[in-house]
Amino acid sequence: MSMETEAMVFADYVDGETARVRRVKVSVQPASQGSVVRIEPTEGALVDWPIDDVRRIPDQAAKDAVVYGLTGDHPARLIVKDARLNAELSAACPDLKRRHKDPNLLKRLMILSTASVASVALIVFVLVPIMADQLATMLPAEGEQALGDSSIEQIRLALDNSKATGLKDCRSTDGLAALAKMQARLSIGANLPYDIRLHVLDHKMINAFALPGGHIVLFEGLLDDAKNPLEVAGVLGHEMGHVEHRDPTRLALRSAGSVGVLGLLLGDFAGGAAVLFMTEKLIQAQYSQGAEAGSDTYAYALLAAAKLPTVPMADFFDRLHKKYGEEKGLMSHLASHPDSLGRSEAARAANTVEGDFVPILTADEWASLQAICD
Ligand SMILES: [Zn+2]
Repeated sequence: MSMETEAMVFADYVDGETARVRRVKVSVQPASQGSVVRIEPTEGALVDWPIDDVRRIPDQAAKDAVVYGLTGDHPARLIVKDARLNAELSAACPDLKRRHKDPNLLKRLMILSTASVASVALIVFVLVPIMADQLATMLPAEGEQALGDSSIEQIRLALDNSKATGLKDCRSTDGLAALAKMQARLSIGANLPYDIRLHVLDHKMINAFALPGGHIVLFEGLLDDAKNPLEVAGVLGHEMGHVEHRDPTRLALRSAGSVGVLGLLLGDFAGGAAVLFMTEKLIQAQYSQGAEAGSDTYAYALLAAAKLPTVPMADFFDRLHKKYGEEKGLMSHLASHPDSLGRSEAARAANTVEGDFVPILTADEWASLQAICD
C-alpha cells in the first residue's frame, strides 16, 4: 500500500454502453501496478486501460480537449482537458498516435456507402457534412434523445460558475404543475415527434433553447423578466416549433463535424467530445431566418389553437430586442432575431383572440411558476 500524494486530475468518461458522461479521476499506474491508465468514476467500478492499447482519437470537433479510446472496436471514450495529464498520457502510452484501426467501423461505413463511392475519406470529409440535414432525418429518435440527455448534463455543468454540481434543475411541485398546465394548453395544436421534456435552470439569463430529442430549457431569468404567463407561453411555443422542425438535431449534426456525425450515425450517441463542442452551439442556437420565422409561425398556431392571444409574445420580443438585440453569444438566440422589427409586427398580425379568453394560468399558478427555483 502506498500513499497517494499527487494532485487529483479529473476528466470526462463515456463507457460507450450508456449515454452518461461521467466525471472520473485519471492516473497512470507504473509497471509494478500493471502499466495501465486507471479511470476511477466517483461511483461504480474502476476501469484499467492497458497503456499499449490506448489510442488518441482524431476528432476535429474538440478544440481544447484530447479524446482517447482503446484499440479495436471499443466504444469507450476518455476526454481530457488537463494539459499536464495529456502530457503524462502522451509520455506513458507508446502507441497513442498509431492509427486507430476499427475493422467494424469500416464494415459499417461500407454498408453506408455504395460501390460507386471510391473512398472512405470522401464520405467522411465531403459527403457527411453536406448531408447533415438529410442525416438528421435518419438519426433514430432514441439517438436524438440520448444526445439531448447528455447535452443537458453538459449544459448544467458548463453554465455553473462555481463548477460544483451544475446548475439546479428547478422542480418545485407547484411550479412543475403550473408548467405542465401551460404545456398541455399549448399542446392542443401540436404534433411533436417526441415527448417534450421541460427544464427550468436556475440562471439569470433571459433565454430559452431546445435540444435534440425534445428537451426544452427555460432559464429562471426568463420567468423573472416576463410580465405575464403568456409571454413565457409564446417563448415555449417558439421552442416547441424548433423541436417539431428538429432544428436542434440538424444544428448538432452540422456543428459536430464529420467525426461527430459519424459517431452519432454509428451508434455512439453520447459522442464524448462532440457533445462538449455542441453544448455552446445549442445554447446560442443561431438558426437561419427561415427556421426562426418558422418557429414563430408555429407558436402563433399553437396560441390560436389554444384560443390565446399572440400580443404578449410580441411585447416580450420587442422588450428583449431593445435590451439585448445587439448582443452576441449566449443571449443571441432569442434576442437577436434575424428580422426583429418585422417579427413583432408579424406576431401582432397573427393574433386571433380579441377580448376575453381563459387565462393559461391563474394568478396563483403564475406565482408558483415564477418561484419554481426557490
Ligand atoms: Zn428560435
